[in-house]
Amino acid sequence: MSISDNLKAFKMELDPIWVKLIAVSKTKPAEKIREAYDTGHRAFGENIVQEMVEKQAGLPADIEWHMIGHLQTNKVKYIAPFIHMVHSVDSLKLLKEIDKQALKNKRVIDCLFQVHIADEDTKFGFYFDELVEVLRSEEFSLMKNIRITGLMGIATNTDNQNHVREDFYELATLFKGIKQSFFRKSPHFKELSMGMTQDYKLAIEQGSTMVRIGSAIFGGR
Ligand SMILES: *Cc1c(COP(=O)(O)O)cnc(C)c1O
Repeated sequence: MSISDNLKAFKMELDPIWVKLIAVSKTKPAEKIREAYDTGHRAFGENIVQEMVEKQAGLPADIEWHMIGHLQTNKVKYIAPFIHMVHSVDSLKLLKEIDKQALKNKRVIDCLFQVHIADEDTKFGFYFDELVEVLRSEEFSLMKNIRITGLMGIATNTDNQNHVREDFYELATLFKGIKQSFFRKSPHFKELSMGMTQDYKLAIEQGSTMVRIGSAIFGGR
């Protein structure tokens, strides 16, 4: 199937249930993004700053760029002028830098806290108590140029469906708790970015509001 057919199928599946599709275009050339853009799609995800910056420069300005990979503090300045959302905030230091660069660009940047839910040690993200510590910190309360719009997580890479389901359930439960405790009055804290090509159905079943789909749209990498 073509990129256009793939996108059409996802939209038919996701639009009626209000789940947003992030088309993950990492490693794919700009022409492929253009092809998706021409079908009307606007939200794209990348995980490497340089790659995103190069693609952004040559593509229409109304594309929403989503950073979904680990972001180094010293690279925030390159994406701060245009980034739509950072899904992968995994430290207070990074959040402070996003706040600082957003101010420089006279913007407020939407951010998700990445939470560690998978079994593997290698995945980035906050553990629950670290996240609570950040949320309670004075430094966090002083940041005016970031807006926390929810949480993001990556499930364990396993064929065991129950295990993946439990990972997503854990994140969804955490989301509700954090919302109750820290964002009760913030209508913007509403996004749960979870689910990729292999596991997005389970993620949606557990309450995902944004799925990040790469290979099922653009083909394997
Ligand atoms: C690559 C990537 C995706 C998309 O993965 P697919 O399996 O190709 O759908 C989603 N989220 C993150 C964080 C990624 O790095």
